Formats: sequence, structure tokens, C-alpha cells
Amino acid sequence: MSTGAAPAASSQRMSPPPGDAAAPCRHNTNWRQAERDAVRARPTAKRWDDAAVEAAVDEAEAMAHACLADLLRRHGERRPEDYLGDLGLKVQAVGFSDQWARPYFSLYDQASGTIEVNIRLIRDLDRHLKATGRDDWTTDERLRQVSIAHELLHHIVPRPPVPSLRQRWQQRDQSARADIVEEIAAVRFSQLLLGLDYSPLDYTEAARELATTSTNEGSHGKDH
Ligand SMILES: [Zn+2]
Repeated sequence: MSTGAAPAASSQRMSPPPGDAAAPCRHNTNWRQAERDAVRARPTAKRWDDAAVEAAVDEAEAMAHACLADLLRRHGERRPEDYLGDLGLKVQAVGFSDQWARPYFSLYDQASGTIEVNIRLIRDLDRHLKATGRDDWTTDERLRQVSIAHELLHHIVPRPPVPSLRQRWQQRDQSARADIVEEIAAVRFSQLLLGLDYSPLDYTEAARELATTSTNEGSHGKDH
């Protein structure tokens, strides 16, 4: 979901990866397969063998469950958005046309404790899903909560102290792997917190489909 070069350490993306548009997809209840595919789609994972992909998905699964258990123990079961106040986080709604170049549902900025939610993509995807007969996938409220839940993991996950520049250079391969594991964990965490029986990666796939459709039709990205 994070695309291309790794963003700054404090910024985490939940965004559709670049790629060819697929035909309208149906829910893939094999969420684990969706996660394997998402790992393999990452440029830094291109040379990983099956065992390495499986190990990363296992690690992400463990991370998602550990973070969920920690959240529930500390704050009880709530709607994702209802944790924000106690966690010292705030939401900022954004949605500008230029974000269609690389659309994202949400971002987390650790430094300011802000979750940026792209209400434009959420609104447009909600309409797109309804227009393509996938009413059961959506409400814009659900898309918003999935996005916030995803970013909650990036906030909750324990982080080691920032290493020195030299250590970062020496550990760059491991840090690329850690980034992938955390991203998959965030996807899985949002699925668990929302109680979905499908992977939220379905929304990523649908957003990619929408972005391509929109480009073809020229009907999006021209107004705010
Ligand atoms: Zn993320």
C-alpha cells in the first residue's frame, strides 16, 4: 500500500500501489492470499522466495494481533474513531484533485499526531462501489473507519529508538522489510478491528480500478 520510495519515518501511507487496472473485483475472503500478493507487489520484495513472503505475513499477523490485544486491554472495544481522543490523535480531512496522481485513503503523521483522511477518495470510492453493484462493500462511514483503524496500528506499534544514520544505512534491507511487515499488519489490524471477513486490500484494489476508470473518463480530478 505504501508506494515507491519509503516515505519519511513519521509518515505512513495507506494507498493503492501503482499497477494495471483490474476488472471489477469481488470480495476475496482469502485475506491471507491478498496479503501475500500485496507483499509480492512491493518492489523491495521482488526477490523474496515463498518462504520469505510467508514469514513476513506471519510476522504481520502476529503484530496485528498483539496491537489489537494491547488496544482492547487499554481502551476496550470501540469504533476506530472513538479511540482517537484517548490516544491523543486528531483527524484532518483532505481531498484535493492532485492526489489522484497517487491516491491514498489516509496517512499518519507521528510528529503531529494527525491522521489525514482523504474524504474525496472515500466519497468517490463509495459511489463507485455502489455504481458497480457492490453496495455490500461500503458505506463511506465504513471506509473512513477502516482507514482510521489502519493508521491506528502505525500509531500503536512499538518502535525502537531511531538508529544512527550509519546504522540506518547498514540496516536498510531490514528496514525495507520492517516497513512491509508493518503495512501488512496495519491492513490486517483494520480488518480485525472492524470485524470484516475480507481483506481491506479489496478497497485498495477497487481504488486502483476507480483511478484508472476516472482517468479514462476524465470525470475526476478536475474540480475540488
Ligand atoms: Zn499504512
